[in-house]
Amino acid sequence: MQGTTEKNIPRTQPASSLKAGLYIVATPIGNLKDITARALDTIKAADVIACEDTRVTAKLLNAFMIKKPMMAYHEHNGAQQRPKIEQLIQDGKAVALVSDAGTPLISDPGFKLVEDFSNKGIYITTLPGPSAAIAALTLAGLPTNRFLFLGFSPNKSKARQDWFAAEVKTEATLVFYESARRLKDSLSDAHAVLGNRRAAVCREISKRFEEVVRGDISDLLTKYEELGNPKGEVVVVIEAARPAKDLREATLNADALLEKALTHMSVKSAAAFVSDVTGVKKKELYSKAVEWAKTNRTEQ
Ligand code: SAM
Repeated sequence: MQGTTEKNIPRTQPASSLKAGLYIVATPIGNLKDITARALDTIKAADVIACEDTRVTAKLLNAFMIKKPMMAYHEHNGAQQRPKIEQLIQDGKAVALVSDAGTPLISDPGFKLVEDFSNKGIYITTLPGPSAAIAALTLAGLPTNRFLFLGFSPNKSKARQDWFAAEVKTEATLVFYESARRLKDSLSDAHAVLGNRRAAVCREISKRFEEVVRGDISDLLTKYEELGNPKGEVVVVIEAARPAKDLREATLNADALLEKALTHMSVKSAAAFVSDVTGVKKKELYSKAVEWAKTNRTEQ
């Protein structure tokens, strides 16, 4: 292992070429070559690397033949480590913050460090680079002009449904991190709460088995019900809610279409058909269809 750990951060090492402060450094989410030239220069020049897991970061350092002192900074030791990092910076050191992969602070540690240090006037800069959420948006084939990043979905179905319910009317593409093990359950909750919107499952981005599965949520569900949950790392992207105005229009159109459909189809089929065509909720259409049938279908 090339990296060294917190215990051997040399107190007397020569000052680095970097100004004292905190450097937020994005690292690859897949292919190591995605690292930026500036990220490498900064990691090489920093005095210390604060990282989530020293074993993971040691692999990155080894790949680029960098030998650098490391200290662990993660959600369980943040309170103890922040004063140490602050002291290093007050002593004139440049501290690079990295996470296991991607951009620190984005569903990864670092926010409290930045909040605390910015309040204290400590120099902070960022070295932008890969982030799975942004990479997934570029692949999903859904509008990117307005999006909402939701972090990780909750573990339990009820909490997840409530979490989706809060975004039912959000007119922005939804992006979230999902565990591959929960993908089917999560898509099923999304389908139940958000309806059958377009979506994309972006998996193993920038890795050997990169895969993007696009379609309506029901198509994706069918696929994963057949094949089982996939392996690897996953980002889910879901189409925005329709603007309220469009939805009002769609509802008006849906009502007219439903009446037409009911002259040829059963209540259930008409509701399902019109829901597919207009995106209006099937349950809502079904109730209307039942009412319509009560007054218009004498045979029932
Ligand atoms: N800070 C990181 C970033 O900026 O991408 C994200 C860290 S979060 C702890 C890890 C989650 O990001 C994974 O569970 C997965 O949902 C997503 N992720 C990370 N790398 C990925 C990849 N190569 N392909 C797809 N999703 C990825």
